[in-house]
Amino acid sequence: METRRYEARRRPRRCPACGSPRVAEVLYGYPFWSRRLERDLDAGRVVLGGCAMPEDPERWQCQACGARIHAVRAGG
Ligand SMILES: [Zn+2]
Repeated sequence: METRRYEARRRPRRCPACGSPRVAEVLYGYPFWSRRLERDLDAGRVVLGGCAMPEDPERWQCQACGARIHAVRAGG
């Protein structure tokens, strides 16, 4: 299976791979648990990336196809 690397400066409105609008933000570490976080998780707006931040972390993940999108900094 082909693995493509997707990058964006800000959260894409649609997945660059499949076009789905269900692009969730990946949170690392242990986020403060709240009603709002629970709602965001339920709605698929946020996914938990685990407690350790990877070297090249994904910033967003498509909930439909699983494509991962890395954040790029301007000028980099
Ligand atoms: Zn997708």
